[in-house]
Amino acid sequence: MTPSQSTLERLAAVVGEAHAIRDPAQMDRYMREWRQIWVGRSPLVLRPQSTTEVSRILAIASETRTAIVPQSGNTGLCGGQIPDESGREVVLSLERMNRILDVDPANNTMTVEAGVILHDVQQAAAAADRLFPLSLASEGSCRIGGNLASNAGGLNVIAYGNARDLCLGLEVVLADGRVWNGLSRLRKDNTGYDLRNLFIGAEGSLGIITAAVLKLFPQPRSRETAFIALPSPHAAIELLSLMRDMSGNRIVAFELIAALALDFAVRHADVRRPLGPAPWYVLAELADPVPGAMLQLLEEAMSRGLASDAVVAQSENQRSEFWAARELISESQKPEGGSIKHDVSVPVSRVPEFLAAADAAVLSLMPGARFVSFGHLGDGNIHYNISQPVGMDRDHFLARWNEVNDVVFEVVARFGGSISAEHGIGRLKAHRMPAIKDPVALDLMRQLKSALDPHTILNPGRVLPL
Ligand code: FAD
Repeated sequence: MTPSQSTLERLAAVVGEAHAIRDPAQMDRYMREWRQIWVGRSPLVLRPQSTTEVSRILAIASETRTAIVPQSGNTGLCGGQIPDESGREVVLSLERMNRILDVDPANNTMTVEAGVILHDVQQAAAAADRLFPLSLASEGSCRIGGNLASNAGGLNVIAYGNARDLCLGLEVVLADGRVWNGLSRLRKDNTGYDLRNLFIGAEGSLGIITAAVLKLFPQPRSRETAFIALPSPHAAIELLSLMRDMSGNRIVAFELIAALALDFAVRHADVRRPLGPAPWYVLAELADPVPGAMLQLLEEAMSRGLASDAVVAQSENQRSEFWAARELISESQKPEGGSIKHDVSVPVSRVPEFLAAADAAVLSLMPGARFVSFGHLGDGNIHYNISQPVGMDRDHFLARWNEVNDVVFEVVARFGGSISAEHGIGRLKAHRMPAIKDPVALDLMRQLKSALDPHTILNPGRVLPL
């Protein structure tokens, strides 16, 4: 429903005029996202400072049937945090709720408000000689509420799990304004249904996360990081097994990088090429290994023909250079024209076959398509990105977005995979849910949505199509 002037006044009064943004110029940064795919319109951006204010906002929104779009760091890649083009949806930004409430090294927990920037969480953990292992290229901007709402993955999932695995408790404001205090610091609590996991990954469609208890871990005392050249993704899978076995399962990152992905990063992102040309690369990291373990296992890998060349970082600076090469790939696709990106997963062992089948299917649809595949091979999660053929018109290429998606997702389904490994569904893929979800699962999801959000005011049309 379009919010009336008096509804907007009531909502603004909760946060005070200074934090109720109506000026289009000031609103602009909340209306567009990183990839500029979605540009929304909204009558109001609210910037509450407390759970009480969020609760009062939702009570008014529920009474007046006003749609609310939660936004944390606005780095989401599926458009869920951007209001639609109707001009009816009110944005609720969590950015002022950015306090670290408690750090408990003995319990290995940290309690934070939802608007704390991920990098600040990592720094606060480090200051207490602990590790918060969630790590994404967007960590300087994304906020913990958004990380949990989208169940973010990132670079260290292979060792520590995704955001869901890193959270013990939540505080959530429900659609009607009630506050669920689930800020448990317990590692064991078998008293009924797991509500926390209902809200994690729900992308703001079931409630607004206002605070969380996060798990901390010991800081690694040493790391060994290698950039490795390989003949094929098959070799990478064998290398992964070898590395697991020989290191005593000390792998904290195992990233696959296609030759073209590294070429783009070197060409456009001021990245130094760590190794000479090869068809594929892996960036692997061990935490607290037996000293020299990486070198030893690389020798073994070369003797088995799994690696053709490798370099082990000799300093923190060199390690950062390796990671820059990986993290700047996505950005460096931009100067190469249009790109159609897929965040997909298949069983780890099937990644090589998946890549071959998907490349063949896309090439038969679009000769000359360029594959910039990279990602978290240790989790079976590939960022299957396609850059436009050289010389093709950008708009013409992007107009074929759905066609290319259809072809790739058909191959994903054939391999028993997921069309969204870590970025979520948002607005980008909501229309695909009926086709990809088990009908019973979809029905349960719809029932949960109507039980928790009976008037469909929380992120309408995201995750589940209207
Ligand atoms: P937002 O973008 O603000 O919101 C994301 C979703 O959560 C939206 O649907 C929004 O409505 C909802 N939401 C936000 N806050 C709340 C809240 N408090 N309560 C309820 N719902 C809420 N993602 C990965 O998983 N792994 C990666 O490796 C990765 N790398 C990235 C690299 C780059 C360069 C960029 C730009 C993005 C990357 N992402 C990655 C995607 C993105 O950073 C993550 O999805 C991140 O977790 C989003 O956090 P955010 O605070 O920006 O959330």
